[in-house]
Amino acid sequence: MHRRASDASPADVVVVGAGVAGLAAAVALARDGASVTLLERRAFAGGRAYSYPHPALGETIDSQHVILGCCTNFIDLIDQADAAWSIRWYDELCFLEPGGSRSCIRPSHLPAPLHQALSFLRAPMLGLRDKAAIAFGMAHFLCGAPHNDRESFAAWLKRTGQTERAIRHFWEPVITGALNDSLDKCSTKYAAKVFHESFLRSPQAGRMGIPAKPMSEFFEPVVKLARRLGVDVQMNTAVDAIERTTQGRWKLRTGAGEMETGAVVLATDFRHTERLLNTFVNATAAPGAHKPFVPRLFDFDRFVAAPITTIHLWFDREVCDLDCAALLDTRIQWVFAKSRIRGWDAARGSYLELVISASWPEIPMSREQILASALAELARFFPEAARATLLKSAVLKEARATFSVTPGLDAFRPPQTIPWPHLYVAGDWTATDWPSTMEGAVRSGRLAAGALAGDRTQFLSPESPATGLMRLLSRNQ
Ligand SMILES: Cc1cc2nc3c(=O)[nH]c(=O)nc-3n(C[C@H](O)[C@H](O)[C@H](O)COP(=O)(O)OP(=O)(O)OC[C@H]3O[C@@H](n4cnc5c(N)ncnc54)[C@H](O)[C@@H]3O)c2cc1C
Repeated sequence: MHRRASDASPADVVVVGAGVAGLAAAVALARDGASVTLLERRAFAGGRAYSYPHPALGETIDSQHVILGCCTNFIDLIDQADAAWSIRWYDELCFLEPGGSRSCIRPSHLPAPLHQALSFLRAPMLGLRDKAAIAFGMAHFLCGAPHNDRESFAAWLKRTGQTERAIRHFWEPVITGALNDSLDKCSTKYAAKVFHESFLRSPQAGRMGIPAKPMSEFFEPVVKLARRLGVDVQMNTAVDAIERTTQGRWKLRTGAGEMETGAVVLATDFRHTERLLNTFVNATAAPGAHKPFVPRLFDFDRFVAAPITTIHLWFDREVCDLDCAALLDTRIQWVFAKSRIRGWDAARGSYLELVISASWPEIPMSREQILASALAELARFFPEAARATLLKSAVLKEARATFSVTPGLDAFRPPQTIPWPHLYVAGDWTATDWPSTMEGAVRSGRLAAGALAGDRTQFLSPESPATGLMRLLSRNQ
């Protein structure tokens, strides 16, 4: 057993929610010697990064999640669980145009930030003027992201004179895929972070990692690690209300009864956190008061959930010769050849997932409409898809996939320490300086655990090192 960092912090902790943030908090606290209980309302861990067996199809389905090499806390958590082998890494990012033209951006021997410059200069998806505009724009992000998040990325693109094609074939597909919203609804701060880390900082930071297993299976080793460290993991256990006892401890009400603990980490998404905090705030409101006291810190109305729709296609044969690619001039942002990523035998046919980010238009559409349009679009990039037999298909709509990093949102993302003693919040939506991602979620869980243990940053991993000239330029070392 490790020694606790701070003897003043309670030794018993309940973490609510076994999503990525909750798992990260529970593992960090257990490693630090706390007695941890992890309560999850659903039957599986991973939260929004989940997979489920589709009964009619006989397949396990998930929405493909990707990470970058700069996601150091996420990678470290997976490493601690001895599961790093289940991530496949890619150095090259291919943009495809309808008709088959390919622009593959990959690192060369040149030092950062020029490591991808040669393939970028050769990319047919952009003309010379577009490339010059992009190079000028990228120069703004050499040092990192701006501290202030008030400017929209659409305003920045206009201010820096980006061409229509540079926006359509580069800025927009990268940002809509990474931040899951339109350019006017994403702040320049988070867009800049994406470009700094993916294209400038180092070849290592920009590598793309793809879990090669369905997401709930992918997180199983982390749950096992938590259990090995002594965490009492209880699935199918929803917390309905929280309350402060007269002894200054916390009481949690679940379907199975009540439990008391010294400290609580609410690692739930913003909607469930609001609900749980309201159970406590309403219970403590002065009798007769119309509105409970909710500090300004929690202006939940500022958070906007954004949808992602994925289309899953099983063909009788290989229809795509890449593991993954960004698609241009279509509603589909990404194609993942999951059968290739997961190393299927060719005789088994192929399995593709198409991803539509910021998919508000698809939410009211029927499954048949989405499928028909996706198949027609796919054939514009991979004609073999029209010739192959589609064996089965599924459409998965995640209406609340991520929160949008709207301009000015930072002022409303709360820190993990909130005004009540020994009550903490975690989750991708809390203040992490990261957008809605698994890396943001791990950081939030570790920050909450650190705050509880006496030093908020103690469990964070170091940032991915800048290389080449970026060692001199990058602020974020
Ligand atoms: C379709 C899709 C694609 C995505 N793609 C990517 C990607 O490519 N890369 C990336 O990094 N991120 C991606 N994300 C975002 C990523 O999944 C989230 O940012 C991350 O999983 C958030 O983790 P979290 O722990 O903060 O929250 P959540 O995952 O929401 O976890 C909260 C947990 O709390 C539980 N809970 C809620 N209320 C209670 C209660 N009362 N009692 C007990 N338990 C409760 C929930 O069941 C859940 O398990 C994607 C998300 C989706 C949906």
